[in-house]
Amino acid sequence: MPDGQTNIAVLGATGSIGTSALEVIAASEGRLRAVALSAHSQFDRLVQQAREVRPRWVIASDAAAAGNYDWKRLPAETELLVGPEALETIARREEVDTVLAAIVGSAGLRSTWAAVEAAKNVALANKETLVMAGPLVRELADQTGATLLPVDSEHSAIFQAMKSGARSEVERVILTASGGPFRTWDTASLTQVTLDEALAHPTWDMGPKITIDSATLMNKALEIIEARWLFDLPAERISVMIHPQSIVHSMVEFVDGSTIAQLSPPDMKLPIQYALEYPHRRAAISPRLDWSKRMTLEFDPPDLEQFPALALGFRAAREGGSAGVVVNAANEAAVGMFLGGELHFTEIVPACASILEAHDFEPSPSLDQLEKIDRWARQEVEKWICV
Ligand code: NAD
Ligand code: MG
Repeated sequence: MPDGQTNIAVLGATGSIGTSALEVIAASEGRLRAVALSAHSQFDRLVQQAREVRPRWVIASDAAAAGNYDWKRLPAETELLVGPEALETIARREEVDTVLAAIVGSAGLRSTWAAVEAAKNVALANKETLVMAGPLVRELADQTGATLLPVDSEHSAIFQAMKSGARSEVERVILTASGGPFRTWDTASLTQVTLDEALAHPTWDMGPKITIDSATLMNKALEIIEARWLFDLPAERISVMIHPQSIVHSMVEFVDGSTIAQLSPPDMKLPIQYALEYPHRRAAISPRLDWSKRMTLEFDPPDLEQFPALALGFRAAREGGSAGVVVNAANEAAVGMFLGGELHFTEIVPACASILEAHDFEPSPSLDQLEKIDRWARQEVEKWICV
């Protein structure tokens, strides 16, 4: 392989982030190369991607579904690996420089962990990993020297803005939030929200789970916790502003009162590229701002009563320990039930809050304990089934 080429394992290749990442890689003039692609179940799409990219490996993480699939269209030079353990094996392979962690939910934890353990560059879209196990992941990265590169647009913006000053000069970070599709709805109307309405995000085109999380504002709650661990900032130094245009992706305020922001149209290809090409900036295929036109940017402090998820995020960021894993698991299960028609939209956040309240707090859980608490929180959500 040519010198200077970055070999990337794209875990979650068939998803919204994975697909955008493959566009970025294809446009990189050979600097970036996808050597592995994974999918849980959309194997037609995975095989199509493999035919275009010609990776060394594809991973079908749902072993049962993979056994029933006819793989004859897979390129001859591509090796098929099956089952969730294969994600970890590939994340550790010597030939892999960068792991793009773009699996959705807690299913992304083990492979991200393996990549950090193997001291890879980890382009982290899977925020749930940090929400569940932030302190452990941080500690492991410090030990192994793995580099965590945020893909989440807000955290990428903060990561970029942080370069304007020393770590000790940061006063606080300000995460922006679009407010989701229901920003202007009243409480009574929210009880009538349908699945289609919740799946229609005003500014971002994303996978179903994060789209629902954006509608409940749980996505911002998870991002508060993600920022807490990624940047090692206490919850008091994290703020949220509602910014409906999704142009300013987040900001860092320094001790002298200077605030540095990162702006670009809402398109994930830019933060993905920044993480994959880091520390370089390259010409990009993502859209640019048009500075020849008038533009209005609005910022409103959020009403924590209107958006109770935010209060939950701040609480979990403050408490640390097992609070993150409880919020994450309860939310993941609740969103699954909402998508399956078993839970009302307005029950998602209260279910998470009540399970967080009820749980047996563990100040420094191990990975095994986290997985146990994760299972408990999911079972608790089932008590909320109401449709
Ligand atoms: P998506 O639903 O579009 O894709 C998810 C990917 O994960 C698919 O490739 C799927 O095959 C794989 N997957 C699903 N379940 C799996 C399992 N049990 N085991 C292994 N693989 C599994 O999701 P997305 O919107 O691309 O989001 C991916 C991650 O990136 C999430 O953590 C999300 O929070 C984060 N993120 C996404 C965006 C966005 O714009 N989509 C922005 C910021 C952060
Ligand atoms: Mg985000």
